[in-house]
Amino acid sequence: MSSFFKVLHKSKKSKARLGEIKTDHGIIKTPGFIAAATKGTIKSLSPQLIKEIGIQAGCVNTYHLVTHPGAEIIEKAGGIHKYAQLNIPLMSDSGGFQVFSLARKQNQRSNIKDQKYILNIKNSITKKANIRGEEQPLLVKISEDGVKFRSMFDGKLIEFTPEKSMEFQRKIGADINMAFDECTYYPSTHEYAEKAMERTHEWLERCVNFKARQRNFLSQRGPLHSTPYTLQPNQYLYGVIQGGTFEDLRKKSAEFVVSQDTPGVAIGGVSVGETKKEMRDQVRWVSDYLPKDRPVHLLGVGQIDDIIDLVKYGIDTFDCVEPTRLARMGTLYKMSNVKLQMTNKFQITNNKFENGEIDITRGIYKNNLEKVDEDCDCYVCRDFTKSYLHHLFKQREILGYTLATFHNLWVMEKLFEKIRKWIGSGLI
Ligand SMILES: [Zn+2]
Repeated sequence: MSSFFKVLHKSKKSKARLGEIKTDHGIIKTPGFIAAATKGTIKSLSPQLIKEIGIQAGCVNTYHLVTHPGAEIIEKAGGIHKYAQLNIPLMSDSGGFQVFSLARKQNQRSNIKDQKYILNIKNSITKKANIRGEEQPLLVKISEDGVKFRSMFDGKLIEFTPEKSMEFQRKIGADINMAFDECTYYPSTHEYAEKAMERTHEWLERCVNFKARQRNFLSQRGPLHSTPYTLQPNQYLYGVIQGGTFEDLRKKSAEFVVSQDTPGVAIGGVSVGETKKEMRDQVRWVSDYLPKDRPVHLLGVGQIDDIIDLVKYGIDTFDCVEPTRLARMGTLYKMSNVKLQMTNKFQITNNKFENGEIDITRGIYKNNLEKVDEDCDCYVCRDFTKSYLHHLFKQREILGYTLATFHNLWVMEKLFEKIRKWIGSGLI
């Protein structure tokens, strides 16, 4: 475990720290950004471009990959790194968020007695799905054991339990795996958040046990099943802290999850519709409980104006769809937002990054031959103009998505490079 994560430097001003996560597919320097690679691709980028940007890591999604193309074919291909030619450290989300929050319809035949509970989940679904902009499968059944739903591709019945999520993730083969959890909807009652948290804790124990069994079986008796497979030798499990917007539950959950001694810890159930203050509070409340010797990941958060504050609470890695999703909408980050933090007015406020984006689809850029972002020296900004990018977006040319994604992820990587420098030089 100690070789998995190394703390290289601790800030004297905050809980920020410099570290390294070592995987079989490379090292993630922390604090670091983990780009969305939901379906096994960082949308619109080829592996060569990923390398050129210097993207440190990607996050694939178990739910999406299980529904298509299926975990078995990925395993047969040698794991997701090989299948997708993504030669960077990869994390897989457990699928918990998707199977719980994206299912829209509740089958009438459900034998769940607690209909109010189900109704609450259903009510939160559309909101969350809209926020994250994802597809919605047909929910069949939620139980203490897990979730069943029908694939939106072929109607096939798919079941997610803690054990199945672990098994899917083993087959997919990402370096870092998330325990199967129940993501609390927002807003929720204390009663519901507690119930979801307790279930998440039970499921974490089951994930930990199952993973240990997988290892034992393989090391002592060979393959678990009749079909031959290979265990990815170094897949690291993260337990997930839940508890909604309630301080007592968040702290309780942090204590429990950290006590499970998983190689890493994640904070989940944030950025699901709550305010920025609530989101930050949820991280701040648990910051004293986070492990000193293990990496901490924040699930689904990565807006530029949040990152530095959250690094100060002790977050090592972030994943977020925003840079890539905004890029595909024609919204480009401005490097000046990153550079601003280097000035002598070194202050982070909620407003610093406002108006810090370029909406390249606006008509004012049609005849603008300036570089895309004057402060950025990425390939896109060196070689192309605002007018050309505007043209690509207006004509829905595919290259527009690639160039915008390249630029936004370049800015993210530069931001994290700066953050690491600032921690090293005592600014944060
Ligand atoms: Zn650029």
